[in-house]
Parts: sequence; C-alpha cells; structure tokens
Amino acid sequence: MILKDKKYFSYLEMREASVSTISGKTNIIEGSGIANLLLAGGTRLCITDALYSSKSYRNLLSFKDIRRNGYHLETTNEYDTEYIFITNMASGEKCISERLPEFSSGLYYTYISMIETYAIVTPKFTNHDEFWHDRLGHPGSVMMQKIIENSYGHPLKKQRIPQWKEILCPACSQGKLAIRPSPEKLRNESIRFLERLQGDMCGPIHPYCGPFRYFMVLIDASTRWSHVSLLSTRNLAFARLLAQLIRLRTHFPDYQIKKITLDNAEFTSQTFNDYCISLGIDVEHPVAHVHTQNGLAESFIKCLQLIARPLFMITNLSASCWGHAILHATNLVHIRPTSYHEQSPLQLVFGNEPNVSHLRIFGCAVYVPIAPPQRTKMGPQRKLGIYVGYEYLSIIKYLEPTTGYLFTTRFAACHFDETVFPKLGGENKQP
Ligand SMILES: [Zn+2]
Repeated sequence: MILKDKKYFSYLEMREASVSTISGKTNIIEGSGIANLLLAGGTRLCITDALYSSKSYRNLLSFKDIRRNGYHLETTNEYDTEYIFITNMASGEKCISERLPEFSSGLYYTYISMIETYAIVTPKFTNHDEFWHDRLGHPGSVMMQKIIENSYGHPLKKQRIPQWKEILCPACSQGKLAIRPSPEKLRNESIRFLERLQGDMCGPIHPYCGPFRYFMVLIDASTRWSHVSLLSTRNLAFARLLAQLIRLRTHFPDYQIKKITLDNAEFTSQTFNDYCISLGIDVEHPVAHVHTQNGLAESFIKCLQLIARPLFMITNLSASCWGHAILHATNLVHIRPTSYHEQSPLQLVFGNEPNVSHLRIFGCAVYVPIAPPQRTKMGPQRKLGIYVGYEYLSIIKYLEPTTGYLFTTRFAACHFDETVFPKLGGENKQP
C-alpha cells in the first residue's frame, strides 16, 4: 500500500526507501506505518505496513493488503468492462463489499476516505491491536500473536502484530521492569489434568484491598489452569482450598487429583491433610530451602503480579485495588498460551478456543443501568462505574466510584468508554 497523504496514518515513521510497484521501481517512499481507511462501498481496511509517499501520483492498494483484512477478490466481466469484486463472508453467505472497475492501464480504481471515528479518539487508540494490547493485559508482541491465534471474538486473526518497542506503551515501560521469570521446567510433560496441583500464598499485602490482605493460588501442573482467591486471614486458606478441591472433583469427575504440593511453612492443617488422605491425595510440603518442587506456584504468583502491575499504570485506581487487578490478571492468564503449550489453559481444559469479545480495558469507564427502584422516568438511565473485569462472559464487575463497592451487572446492558479511566472516591464529575 502506498498512500500520498499523511492523514490516513495512525502511526507513521519517516524513513526513505525504494519500492517496486506495478509501474516500475521508485525511490519516492518517505516513510511507513499503520493506516486505516474506508473504501467507497464502506469497507474498512487496516494496513499494518503502509508506505507514505507525498509524490505518488495515486494511492496504491495491493491485493495482499485486501486479503490480509480477511476479504477475498474476484474478477468478473460486465458489458466489456472488467471489475474486481471485494467479497467477504457474513454469516455463511458471500457478500460483495466493493466493485472496482478497471483502468485502461490494468489497474482497478476506487475512492478512499479516512475513518472519521478513528481520528477523533485519543491518538493512543488509533488501532485495533493497540486497543487489544491494553485489553489483554499488555502482553509482549510474541505473546500477543499467540493469544490472537488461539482465541476468537477480536478482529486481529491472521494479522501481524507490530513489535511493541516501535509503538511505545507507557504502561508497559513503567509497569514491566522484570523480564518474565522462567518457571521450573517440568521433566515429564505427560501428566494428566489435575494429577498434580501446586498451591502457594502471597501476602500480607499493604494497603488492604477491602478486607483482603492475601491471595492464594492453586495451579494445575499439566494445563496451567489456575484458581486464585483473595483472603482476609491466613486461617481461611484451607477452607478455600477444600472448597476448590470439591469443586474440581465435581466439575471434572473423570480426572483424579493425585498430589498437592503446598509451599509456605505455615501453610499446614491437620484437617486438610486428613481430608486429602481419605481421598487418596498426597499432600506434599517441600522443605523451605529446596525450591525445585513448588517453583510453578511461585512463578505463577510472579506472573500475576507482572500482569497486574501494568494494568494499574493507565488506570486512576489506587493501590488498594490490587485484588481486582490480580483476579483480572488470572482471567487474562487463562487465555494466554503458555511456553509449554500452543493453546491457552482455558482451551486445554474446555476444548474450545476462548472467546475474548467481552474483554475491556481494566479500570475504564462503564455506564451501567440504574436498577429500577432508583431509576425515574425522566432521570438518567445509566450511571458511571469502573470496569474491573468479569465473572462470566455475560457478567461484568464494576466499582461504584464514590463508595468503591463492588457490583456485577450484565455485559450486554453496559456502555464502555475505554479512553476514560475514572478515579475512586467521588472525584469524578458526571458528564
Ligand atoms: Zn502495554
């Protein structure tokens, strides 16, 4: 793609280059970047490697760019004129999106325009992939590519994700100092789902998140499926752990839990041990200074913190909201393929590619319906909330900005504004 006007670019890096086109080799390229444009028939195209040349006689669009956006091309002859049809599949049927007549020179032509809505939005959000980078919790470009290939509900399938070092993300550079810790590699990868579980606890954490000071993780060594719960005291750990084991045994009766490894010296309970023995589950407490056994739970905690930290960077939430960020990070980890599997934990456990269409940027503004008792006929129908993740695909969690209380509501009933990040504590003015 060669464009002769800067206005189509959402990201443009000026650098001279030469390029071969259908009409010969030219030296007129002044820069390259990402362009969003609209064709005459309303087809939106995002071109990730568009070239900029102010001296170009025309804007040139290649077949490859059209194909990369998921459209197909067909040539037809009508009344001695050759046309190219740009087609796409909508709910199983082929639709013709554009009809491009042929020039005598062998090129086909159409008219293009800017996508206006993209232009008004904050410059940071000019691109799908940038948007999704934030929604998915700031993965690096390699991880991002893996996630989009192994999930659906986003428009990025088959697109090349640009290197994030080129497009600076403030949250990534502030929030991610450490390089991802490499977890202890498991020698034997043939273990079954739920055969080996590992658990660990993190805390006390200051400031408290509501009543919570700890979080506990339980992770499956085979699929990396995990469960995280927030705790107010250490004493509650075993009650939660038991509840989780019972839930796993009910949901996955075909899989047997054989061994649980629990880190932390204080992390023992006779009742829990007795319960596990009665079910034939081995409980292992590794010696404090031998860290080879429980490396997985420990590195999982680090991984959660690593994802949760940049989530905070672009929000206006205070540090006491760490619990919400940790729980959201857990959901995000479930859709990330691990270094051991091509597929995400969610897909390994449930068999389907995860749907991510309901994902929104952590901490963004959400307008939620006002419940009928408080809603008057003439008054507002929605109020401001702060999005802090989801419980199910159809249920979101939000904080009431003045009180900080947590509520849930239906995803379908909400309006999101992912360019606004409200503050807690009544500092917001209702727009
Ligand atoms: Zn980022």
